Amino acid sequence: MRCLGVESTAHTFGCSVVDSSGKILSDARDIFRPPEGSGIHPRDASRHHIEVSSSVLKEALDSAKTSMSKIDIIGYSAGPGLGPCLRVGAVVSRALAGFYNKPLVPVNHALGHVELGTLLTGASDPLVLLVSGGHSMILAYSNNCWRVFGETLDTTVGQLLDQFGRALGFASPCGARIEALAKKSSGRYLQLPYTVKGNDVSFSGLLTAALRLVSEKNELADVCYSLQETAFAMLAEATERALSFTGKTEMMIVGGVAANRRLAGMLEVACDRHGAKLHVCPIKFAGDNGAQISWTAIQEYQATGKSVKIEKSTIRQSWRLDSVDVKWRP
Ligand code: AMP
Ligand code: MG
Repeated sequence: MRCLGVESTAHTFGCSVVDSSGKILSDARDIFRPPEGSGIHPRDASRHHIEVSSSVLKEALDSAKTSMSKIDIIGYSAGPGLGPCLRVGAVVSRALAGFYNKPLVPVNHALGHVELGTLLTGASDPLVLLVSGGHSMILAYSNNCWRVFGETLDTTVGQLLDQFGRALGFASPCGARIEALAKKSSGRYLQLPYTVKGNDVSFSGLLTAALRLVSEKNELADVCYSLQETAFAMLAEATERALSFTGKTEMMIVGGVAANRRLAGMLEVACDRHGAKLHVCPIKFAGDNGAQISWTAIQEYQATGKSVKIEKSTIRQSWRLDSVDVKWRP
């Protein structure tokens, strides 16, 4: 079975063909880049997605050496995400499913990050840290559901890094640039608020305080270093507590922020203390992409045989991962 997956929750419009053995036959993407210092405006990002959708689709089919007639099912990212962006992917997928008469499977985007992560890392039952532009969540699978063991109470860690970078005039996404600047620091830690409440974290005060340190003319590298140390230590503390509570022997980081070596280093130390193996999603597939959607749609369709009628193929901007019934995991 071959699935075409369509991703369009935020900055990325992606199409990918994946087969039921988990082989990624193609992965085409085009990422909306807002002007330096600006964030993603949903209207502008959705316009970008409309403009690139046909060329990205063509690239995904061509590089998989296939055509729509040979595709068995279509999966689309139905939420959570930015409404105007989600609508573009849903409309493209609906049109293809209607015209070519293919089953259409809505996929939860966060579930896509987690499921593709387990496929690519080989993790079987990990505690998951999902850290991206849209999510900061600690998850563990139990009784047909990825349950949330902790999450952010306000902005996500990706937004924290992007909003901090944008305030300095960097182009979004800013995480990689902040990581590079932090590496240049001599290791001078500047005090910042550290907020863990129960097993949840809060980043909004940290953003304000880090920007204040910049306005007080501290070395930018030291502020980036201190920002990373504080935000990642908060995530590592909550993750380690969940690791201890669940007794999982594997842990996995997924989402765009999984590319950060310092975060992986902190989690590695926490995993060592608990005898757990750390899996890091390969950077190429850590951020948003169509393969996440294809692979999750294939598993859902094989396990349940369910698809949606085209007229019922809606989007859900605030679709929570812990409300999804996962039928294919033991
Ligand atoms: P996603 O929403 O999964 O596509 O992830 C995008 C987020 O990952 C953005 O907030 C980026 O700033 C962040 N990101 C990408 N590379 C890095 C990095 N090396 N360190 C920290 N954050 C990163
Ligand atoms: Mg994402």
